[in-house]
Amino acid sequence: MTETIIKIDLSQSPYENDKIHNRWHPDIPMVEMVEPGDDFIVECYDWTGGQIKNDDSAEDVRDVDLSQVHFLSGPIGVKGAEPGDLLVVDILDIGAFDSSQWGFNGFFSKNNGGGFLTEHFPEAQKSIWDFNGMFTKSRHVPGVEFAGLIHPGLIGCLPSKELLNEWNTREKALYDTDPNRVPELATLPQADTAHLGRMNGEARNMAAAEGARTVPPREHGGNCDIKDLSRGSKVYFPVYVNGGGLSVGDLHFSQGDGEITFCGAIEMAGWIHMRVNLIKDGMSKYGIKNPIFKPSPITPKYDDYLIFEGISVDEAGEQHYLDVHIAYRQACLNAIEYLTKFGYSKAQAYAILGTAPVQGHISGVVDIPNACATLWLPTDIFEFDVQPNTNGPNKAVDGSIDIPLAPDL
Ligand code: ZN
Repeated sequence: MTETIIKIDLSQSPYENDKIHNRWHPDIPMVEMVEPGDDFIVECYDWTGGQIKNDDSAEDVRDVDLSQVHFLSGPIGVKGAEPGDLLVVDILDIGAFDSSQWGFNGFFSKNNGGGFLTEHFPEAQKSIWDFNGMFTKSRHVPGVEFAGLIHPGLIGCLPSKELLNEWNTREKALYDTDPNRVPELATLPQADTAHLGRMNGEARNMAAAEGARTVPPREHGGNCDIKDLSRGSKVYFPVYVNGGGLSVGDLHFSQGDGEITFCGAIEMAGWIHMRVNLIKDGMSKYGIKNPIFKPSPITPKYDDYLIFEGISVDEAGEQHYLDVHIAYRQACLNAIEYLTKFGYSKAQAYAILGTAPVQGHISGVVDIPNACATLWLPTDIFEFDVQPNTNGPNKAVDGSIDIPLAPDL
């Protein structure tokens, strides 16, 4: 039987579990050592460490302490791994706990986290998604059900000291260009809520002061939030420290491309079954700076889409130059507007784009001055026909249910 090498207790604070950490630092001690070829199971908190509850109030999303995130399980050492190697990780399976068959999706308050469409959705909102085997639906978003493309939002190896310093230097420089911005331009180290696993004493305090936050994706992978890095994928991670130091967390039952709602996908606690191998000196052999991966042989089969186009002209009509971020935002806003014609609130439509297996594509980046991005909305996730026809939209959703909203602080 496969061994569970990291166990968690959902009734216990992640700060009390010394196989959990929430910062990146090269000196965090390995919690277990495994051999190349080994497979093992790791249990994970949801990314907030249990701050969000299965209820009908969004006040927990509004008041969430984001300096605590993300709670990661690890680091796991692989015998023989050295800087310059590639750590090959097969994601064999992922699941929710029997006792916790649900997940959450939310929008952060603009004043505490924000998000991709925070100017349009400035207040905290939360929807709960129940799991039924491989499918999910929400009591807050009627008329939609889909199969989960289950994946870890966050996975990667520990950085070296040099790489950590590079991260801190470049992110601080960006932050300093507008230090009063809300939300901030980058998340800097924050010692008071750092959890460094088994570290203690002065070494721990030094690591807490400089440990990188887990928020952005970086060269090592980290918080990439790639929906297709799902169970069945094979990932090749750069190794920067002896033993590699593989950590994982932020499990998602499902997510649309872009994780546009930011809090986040369908976030869950659960377990992940992995197998590790090494390619010695693989970084230079293959010219690899950032991770590469092969997708799963099993994905939900949604092959009919309504595809929304967006261009790099913003909501005020201002022209931007080949800005893919703005183009994707316009594609998302166009999809939200369309879905409201079927009876959804804007918040429900936004939640669908954040959670369902929606695809986002960079379609054109050369036709000056407009970038073109597209949002691919799978039509078969709806319990009614969402395609345009000559009769006009059918108001399939009656509007009596909406996503709970917490007033802004
Ligand atoms: Zn997440």
